Amino acid sequence: MTSITQKTHYEILEVERDCSVQDVKNAYRRKLLNIHPDKTNKQLDSDIIAKIKLAHATLSDPQLRTKYDDELIQTYKKSGLISTGEGLDIVNLDDFEYVEEDDMGNFLKDCPRCTGENGFVLTEDDLAENGTPDGFGGYNIIVQCNACSLWLKIKYFDLEDEEEEGQQV
Ligand SMILES: [Zn+2]
Repeated sequence: MTSITQKTHYEILEVERDCSVQDVKNAYRRKLLNIHPDKTNKQLDSDIIAKIKLAHATLSDPQLRTKYDDELIQTYKKSGLISTGEGLDIVNLDDFEYVEEDDMGNFLKDCPRCTGENGFVLTEDDLAENGTPDGFGGYNIIVQCNACSLWLKIKYFDLEDEEEEGQQV
């Protein structure tokens, strides 16, 4: 459970994955203000402050943030390949609820960890553009819960001919 339960920078600051730089700055200030120095546990305090500072430094810098996001995804992709234990839970897209809205198809699922309603959302565009072929005619896509840090690996097969005009390779 280590890799998935370890706090990400986003969780440390309690911000959304797609939050703005201003959100990061606000969260950083809020977090620092909320630390009440504990004389009995100075070491713990300084660890927390260091983590908050690192999270802020990383997420408020677009380049560092992009790199960090990539690393996060790679980490979870790797752990997803470990079949004995702590890998990613693999969920079939069939387990998602399909909702069509404004001609856009969305696949929704409540989070199995934090129970956040529709914690997992995949759009048809995500599936068409961001999936990784699994070598068996299907695709995988790795997504994170909107509300907590849980990542799931979603398996699916070709959505019936989603390729449309302007998709020349
Ligand atoms: Zn969740």
